[in-house]
Amino acid sequence: MVAVGDPATNPLETIERKSLLYKSGLGFHCINHALGCSHGCRYPCYAFLMARHHGRVRDYSQWCRPRIVGNALSLLDRELTRKRVLPPDVHLCLTTDPFMVGQPEVGAMSLAIIERLNRSGVPCSLLTKGRLSAELADRRRFPCDNTHGISLVSLDEGFRREWEPGAAPYAERIAALRRLHDAGCRTLVHIEPYPTPSVIVQDLSEILAEVTFVDHIYFGGWNYSSRVPRDRAAEEFYRQQRSTVRSFCAKHGTDCKVE
Ligand code: SF4
Repeated sequence: MVAVGDPATNPLETIERKSLLYKSGLGFHCINHALGCSHGCRYPCYAFLMARHHGRVRDYSQWCRPRIVGNALSLLDRELTRKRVLPPDVHLCLTTDPFMVGQPEVGAMSLAIIERLNRSGVPCSLLTKGRLSAELADRRRFPCDNTHGISLVSLDEGFRREWEPGAAPYAERIAALRRLHDAGCRTLVHIEPYPTPSVIVQDLSEILAEVTFVDHIYFGGWNYSSRVPRDRAAEEFYRQQRSTVRSFCAKHGTDCKVE
């Protein structure tokens, strides 16, 4: 199911785009320099549903074989040069993953994009279910105060194999994040979509205990799966989880956003 791109023997297919940097409906600027994602999340992945709906991918197996935007760097260079007002920051990525497991070409292009944006003074926020590159700690190459984020909704590898089958094991995501924290980088954990006990019984405090070092935590529920009921018990469950996150953040001095 998961395509592993060895650039030497099996380079990723490329696509060309007419533009790269855009302001999303969520109000922030984004770059998505690949179509598809070999992490193949089954929550389901909203980006996959949209890509299939608009005919950009045929099916799940094609989604899991990402195609890289071959002209991303030249487009970005042109767009940054032409803009009179640069965006305050840029997010990587909204509809794919910047550090996709087994796709070194995507990771290398992510680093080149971040470097180019930083050279123009534009900081980046990064979010991955892969392993953040240790190179991001190099302040000569990445001089802006970038935010380095991982998605983390469980510590259970059985859950990951079922719901995020191509993504990095949780311990490896956390280790890469910690390495950047230890090097003085700003870090974030994005806990969404957090599963209800109907999907997995787990203790949110144990997840939070693994990331006491991070600067910012975002928490959100799981709103779009038939496995997650929309009833009073689920509402009460999420009320309790939000309270757990708020208490944790207050205790550790962590920036906090819960939804
Ligand atoms: S990592 Fe993100 S973009 Fe990739 S499949 Fe999972 S939810 Fe979709």
